[in-house]
Amino acid sequence: MCGLAGIQPNAAVGCLSGLQANPAVGCGFDHHADPIDDLSVLNLPPGSVSSGDGSYVDDVIVPRPAIECFCNSSDPGRQGSQSPVNKWRAANESLGRSTRLSRAEIMAEDLTSEDTPIRAVLEGWDSVEQEGRMTESWRKLQGVDQVCFKTCSQIERLAILRMMHILMTYHGDPTLERHASVPHWFLMRPSQAIAHSYAIDYFVWPGIRERFVFSQHQYCTNMFWDLFRGNFKIMWPYDFRDTYMHNSETGRYHLSPLFEERIRDISAWTMCPDFFVQFPELYGDIPTYLSVPASVSNMGSGGLVPYVQEAQRAAYRRSRSRNTPPKEPMVEVVDL
Ligand SMILES: [Zn+2]
Repeated sequence: MCGLAGIQPNAAVGCLSGLQANPAVGCGFDHHADPIDDLSVLNLPPGSVSSGDGSYVDDVIVPRPAIECFCNSSDPGRQGSQSPVNKWRAANESLGRSTRLSRAEIMAEDLTSEDTPIRAVLEGWDSVEQEGRMTESWRKLQGVDQVCFKTCSQIERLAILRMMHILMTYHGDPTLERHASVPHWFLMRPSQAIAHSYAIDYFVWPGIRERFVFSQHQYCTNMFWDLFRGNFKIMWPYDFRDTYMHNSETGRYHLSPLFEERIRDISAWTMCPDFFVQFPELYGDIPTYLSVPASVSNMGSGGLVPYVQEAQRAAYRRSRSRNTPPKEPMVEVVDL
């Protein structure tokens, strides 16, 4: 079941036809690699959710609560007029189920993998749509972004969208190459073999995923997401403008190698201490946010920006030396 009515299969292919006209722009992955069907090999979630007794459930909340719960859609006004929509249910309905991608869809996802999240955060989702950079996956993530993360800062929204798209694309293209592109801490843990709501897979912290598998209804209130948005921080001591670059020749945005490297470190995904006042049991599952040292935060732009630029160049050289997917030359750095 998918809560985004009106989405047509392969819709991404049509709207990205212009992008596909440039075969030189590749993602570096082998799209001809055979997908792996043994889900246990690559820690993939099931395509359909078993209820545990051999049947399949048709609700996005798995398992259904034994008693009436905030995430029960049968009573949407239960939380009062201020929050008529339960965000946990809405996020799961937006994500739907993991679905395999066609080769054309895989190409579209790779072509937009960096440009679309930056464009969405910088210019808004309408701009993504107008530029023809919306795919099936990005439409799902737009729904989650607008429900759960729209009031997060730009840095945090970009990190979340980027990482969720990496995992979603892997679910749709379960090859060994794609498996290698997913941070190890983001791969399915043994507890995720138990039937669970699909959105659980997208928490970056393995301990949180496990807690949600066993007790999601302790955290399915909108208050959880209010605290999440207010306290979630990426440990990134620079500005949002330092997270991306712009290629003036192609018109496409790219993540700065330094930011990409940073968000692939789970220690960068933190919560401010106030979050743990309400949820002290999660203290050991999520790194606690540490303020940026004064010696860094007090640096003026004249000292910081050259450091960022040099760090980006160094990270780019390291990525090239590891034979990671080639990128177009960065001919322009925006706002640096
Ligand atoms: Zn619930």
